[in-house]
Amino acid sequence: MPKTAVTTTTNGAGSTSSRPGGASTGSSVRMAAIAAVTNYRASGPPMNFIDTPAKDLFSANVFSKAVMKERLPKPVYKSLIQTIEAGAHLDPDIGDIVASAMKDWAIEKGATHYAHVFYPLTGLTAEKHDSFLVPDGQGSAVAEFSGSQLSQGEPDGSSFPSGGIRATFEARGYTIWDVTSPAYLLENANGTTLCIPTAFVSWTGEALDKKTPVLRSTQALNKQAQRVLKLFGDTDGAMVSSTAGPEQEYFLIDRNFYFARPDLFTAGRTLFGAPPPKGQEFDDHYFGAIPDRVLAFMLEAERELSKLGIPIKTRHNEVAPGQYEIAPTFESANLATDHQQLMMTVLSKVAAKYGMAWLSHEKPFSGVNGSGKHVNWSMGSATHGNLLDPGDTPHSNAQFLLFCAAVIRAVHKYQGLLRAVVASAGNDHRLGANEAPPAIISIFLGDQLTDVFEQIKGGGASSSIAKGTLSVGVDVLPPLPKDAGDRNRTSPFAFTGNRFEFRAVGSNQSIAGPLVAMNTIVAESLDYCATRLEKATGGKASKLNEALQELLTEIMNEHGSIIFNGDGYSEEWHKEAEKRGLLNLKTAADALPYLQDKEVEALLDKYNVLSPRELASRHEIYLEQYVKTIEVEARLTREIAQTMIFPAAVRYQNELASTCANLKLVGIEFDTKTLDQVTSLVKSLQDSTAALTKLLAREGSHDLEKEANHCRDKVLPAMLKVRAAADQLEDVVADDMWPLPTYQEMLFIK
Ligand code: ADP
Ligand code: MG
Repeated sequence: MPKTAVTTTTNGAGSTSSRPGGASTGSSVRMAAIAAVTNYRASGPPMNFIDTPAKDLFSANVFSKAVMKERLPKPVYKSLIQTIEAGAHLDPDIGDIVASAMKDWAIEKGATHYAHVFYPLTGLTAEKHDSFLVPDGQGSAVAEFSGSQLSQGEPDGSSFPSGGIRATFEARGYTIWDVTSPAYLLENANGTTLCIPTAFVSWTGEALDKKTPVLRSTQALNKQAQRVLKLFGDTDGAMVSSTAGPEQEYFLIDRNFYFARPDLFTAGRTLFGAPPPKGQEFDDHYFGAIPDRVLAFMLEAERELSKLGIPIKTRHNEVAPGQYEIAPTFESANLATDHQQLMMTVLSKVAAKYGMAWLSHEKPFSGVNGSGKHVNWSMGSATHGNLLDPGDTPHSNAQFLLFCAAVIRAVHKYQGLLRAVVASAGNDHRLGANEAPPAIISIFLGDQLTDVFEQIKGGGASSSIAKGTLSVGVDVLPPLPKDAGDRNRTSPFAFTGNRFEFRAVGSNQSIAGPLVAMNTIVAESLDYCATRLEKATGGKASKLNEALQELLTEIMNEHGSIIFNGDGYSEEWHKEAEKRGLLNLKTAADALPYLQDKEVEALLDKYNVLSPRELASRHEIYLEQYVKTIEVEARLTREIAQTMIFPAAVRYQNELASTCANLKLVGIEFDTKTLDQVTSLVKSLQDSTAALTKLLAREGSHDLEKEANHCRDKVLPAMLKVRAAADQLEDVVADDMWPLPTYQEMLFIK
């Protein structure tokens, strides 16, 4: 407990000290964090949901359909809605009218600037702000915002990764207004900005961002789904779009700790840290009462998100101490992706306001659970509703079974791609650890649905209708249960009643990649199914059932091996998966090369989602990110080991040695066990740091796959050796000398 009151509540690194010499130690930061927790008071006036009901706040800062309807001439509004809801071409003539209405609305709400927001391949959000004001030549200024300013921007794109698509001398990149994602106002204490979601492309029209392929893949999915629906007699043409509901897990720790850990604030995860005496073994955090300061943060963050039209639904404590989850209601894929990005920004900003750091890394702390972003995925349209809803008539059963089988086929066929789109240096620490899905992609269907598909598999042709069983003719299938079986937490890809939940996605990743992959592989599967059925039926509806039965049987026989309902963590599954020929790509270095797989390349090209050049650029960028991330971590490991941990260890060693020498002088025997242990650990620390330093001095090559393998095989193990010595030292060195906040402090002081 603090002897003197410490009042620092913000960046505590170096600002408080409990030791002579001014060095900031773990314990001084601990005091600051304790003060921040115990002295926590809401800074502004409390939020008041009585005077301003939550319902009135929702979408208050969005240029929503309602606002458009109110402010736009009817034909313009109608035309825009056609584009947004039915995917119709955007009428270029309406730009000026929309821009003017948008500007008036934004300025009335206090906006001074507008910004095109885009989503470069870094996985982050980028924005370029421009003032509405232009000098009028008479010494004053007028607010201006034209259709062309709304529709197109030209940020200097040269500093964003393009993976060789565009050299810096041809840096031209364009941002293009995405009408399907509404503009919104981003508030800051000192001003408001009108934000316009955009796609980011090169001057040759190649996608330099994450949004463009999401939009393209949505189009591909719609096209193929329409063909399938037509076979079932549904020809209303209502746009089929994929839906996504991402559940975001994250950690919160006091900012005093965060800034006292160079590994956390630079790399997002701790590179050192002995396991705390108490971890998550009591399961006492999951769904537990939310600490006051954390709840205050959640309420404010959710209010901000609500104003932005992001429909937050759920919040709760997660499994690890200091871990939480937030989930919105699902939306169409493109909108959900934009909202997800915005949500991460808002959460991080609001957390800082409450003196906490928001950690989105997949594995900020080893030994306790990591964070994922479960992406719930389905497809549907305004008139059909959810196409993965089993429904309760035989007819919709048949349709459901076909859509579901198409997903099964797609996931089996493109396991490599699905694994590659969740591959990152951060997610490697999570996937395959005994808390997150294994690196093997498989589908959990639940017992009942599996049973139905098993019977279809053995069902053969429609001629062999056996009374009373499910084995044949889809017409005789009974209504399927809505909740098709139990839950399974170990599966990377689980059917959860009316959608699939892709659980392998990392907490820090954009959901764009996973959605692009899902949309495209399912589009391909639907294409395959539609083609087969069109041929077999020759347009005759009466032949559909027979053809369908045959197709479903074939799909299940060829692709059913992707279904696994058991324990994904078990050793047996790894063996079994290998027998089934399923991929087990343990690291990003193993998985990313699948982006250059010939079948994957042909797939993305065929459905106009990514050209071979665009795909190659992504392969290059993601590999480079993997390599750079590990290199940064390695340099940090070396730096922290050398300049923080080693000095602390030798100081303690010195203290022990002089105690020993002094005691000897007065004739007392000193047990040197601890001194010996410290001495030997200091030696290991020195040796392992030296080995890592040597690796860091190595000359790299231009072959990124080779560099990635080097990082995986050499650099990461060398870092772990340094960590092993350091973590053991942490358990012996005097607490007041230890330079880094400990796991115990970071996870439990809140
Ligand atoms: P759990 O933690 O039990 O998996 P949550 O309630 O935390 O469930 O999250 C479920 C998510 O799935 C929510 O974001 C929800 O909106 C989303 N979801 C529900 N139906 C669909 C659907 N048809 N398509 C996509 N996502 C959906
Ligand atoms: Mg959940």
